[in-house]
Amino acid sequence: MELILQKWEEILKTVKEEYDVADVAFESWLRPLQVYNIIGSTLYILITSEQILLSYVKKKFTLPLKVVIAEITGIDYDIEFIGTDQTGRIKSYNNINSKNINSQNTNLNPNYTFETFVVGKNNSFAHAACLAVADSPGEVYNPLYIYGGPGLGKTHLIQSIGHFILQQKPDKKVLYVTSEEFTNEVIDSIRNGNAMAMNKLREKYRTVDILMIDDVQFIIGKESTQEEFFHTFNVLHSAGKQIVLTSDKPPKDMETLEERIRSRFEWGLLADVGYPDYETRMAILRRKEDIDGFFLDDDILDYIATNIKSNVRELEGALNKLLALSNLEHKNITMEVAIEELQNIISPDKPREVTPQLVIEIVAEHFNISTDQMISKTRINDIAKPRQIAMYLCKNMTSAPLDTIGALLGGRDHSTIIYGIKKITDEYAKDENFHHLIETIKKKINPN
Ligand code: ADP
Ligand code: MG
Repeated sequence: MELILQKWEEILKTVKEEYDVADVAFESWLRPLQVYNIIGSTLYILITSEQILLSYVKKKFTLPLKVVIAEITGIDYDIEFIGTDQTGRIKSYNNINSKNINSQNTNLNPNYTFETFVVGKNNSFAHAACLAVADSPGEVYNPLYIYGGPGLGKTHLIQSIGHFILQQKPDKKVLYVTSEEFTNEVIDSIRNGNAMAMNKLREKYRTVDILMIDDVQFIIGKESTQEEFFHTFNVLHSAGKQIVLTSDKPPKDMETLEERIRSRFEWGLLADVGYPDYETRMAILRRKEDIDGFFLDDDILDYIATNIKSNVRELEGALNKLLALSNLEHKNITMEVAIEELQNIISPDKPREVTPQLVIEIVAEHFNISTDQMISKTRINDIAKPRQIAMYLCKNMTSAPLDTIGALLGGRDHSTIIYGIKKITDEYAKDENFHHLIETIKKKINPN
């Protein structure tokens, strides 16, 4: 048992290498596997994530794991995978561990814990507030409201609260949802039109000990969702249950939000997360290196930390890109390689010049479409809308004349461009979510 536990990380990494498992696949399927117990010659491996994965993981990894474990430990085990619903059937090697395995569907990402979170000036207040809430849920700051720009660690922080609570008190009911999921569930149960669907929804949300709703700005303008949220909030709050919210802005800036809801946001504690300073960015990169077991020269880390300032997700993305090159293409990562490979991610020292080309590229990237599609003739809304957004942002963020914008976007004429810009301008003024979307893309184009 000791041996397996000790070598587990190495076993997983070896499977990854020898069977060419891609990074994403590794993170979603292999990394979450836990050694559960050895009984006789059978090694039980626990899958803590979604049940649907069980059969897939079984099919794909039973043999590779068996082979690699035999290679590394010299012992030929039979491999059995079990899901969290079976943990009652088979006992785990240490009971403490089995208590920690939570069979609730909390929606928590196992990587988002306090242990992996780097504290810096930009987030130390929010971090302290989250710790306090995790330590005494429902007692100190209720609700806790964390706000700040995209990719700055809000989701990571609030999920850490969930993990912490489950570690201390495994029988607490913890639920994390994004406000989109919440909205969809409300809409679904309304559409179902029967009392049972609504009761089920209420049962789900109103019986938890800790409710975390992420990116709560998206409930703005959605009346029935706001209504449901309002009542859920009141029920939980008056029962002394903890509520944790995140948003991209403080409540006072959520101008079109109903007053009764906005005021509740302010009942507890507001904490913001800002941009990390250089030291914090370096520390985040180093922490990630440790986790991945992948180490770069200091000058490359410095290059990344100096150039990516306003978004931790992008900071990590840069490291992931180099990691993938090194793992999958076996490239030796030198400074030259780093500069070459990261040029799309990194905005150089000086604020990068915003050109129409850049705008088009970033808008395409944001919507996960190619620049070829952007300039193509297709009028499918999924493409046409991003194209119009690009028109609008080219007009607003660069000094390019309309004819140039039209030429760059597949030779479109003046009036098409004017029409596109007007459409986006109108929607931007009318729709809060859309407004937010445009601001997010603007930040990606020019973070300074
Ligand atoms: P947000 O919810 O604010 O958009 P996330 O919490 O999703 O941001 O963070 C984006 C990525 O950056 C995540 O992978 C997260 O783990 C990482 N991250 C952000 N801040 C930190 C930090 N201080 N320490 C470690 N990782 C961080
Ligand atoms: Mg988030």
